[in-house]
Amino acid sequence: MIQFVIASDFCPDWSYILRCPKCGDDYLHHGTVVIYGRAEDQPTTVAVSDISDPTIIGRENPSPRRDAVGIVMDCEGCGPVGELCILQHKGQTFLEWRS
Ligand SMILES: [Zn+2]
Repeated sequence: MIQFVIASDFCPDWSYILRCPKCGDDYLHHGTVVIYGRAEDQPTTVAVSDISDPTIIGRENPSPRRDAVGIVMDCEGCGPVGELCILQHKGQTFLEWRS
């Protein structure tokens, strides 16, 4: 897993704008959204990429013990960026980039 720094700027009209962790551009496009579900501390993770067609996909859950959500992102400035993940671990919520 590669971790990047999360950077953002405040925009009064829309709250915070996320910047590309590679080049700093603020035009990031959402791709596939992945839901990683698991019962607490269970080894099995269900990763679903499309709610209307909930097919289980083989992606590693970014959370070692709980649930997570990932959004695959592309940058207008430099192309594929990776997956922005929101994950829970030991009762805390983390925000991270992974490749
Ligand atoms: Zn970029």
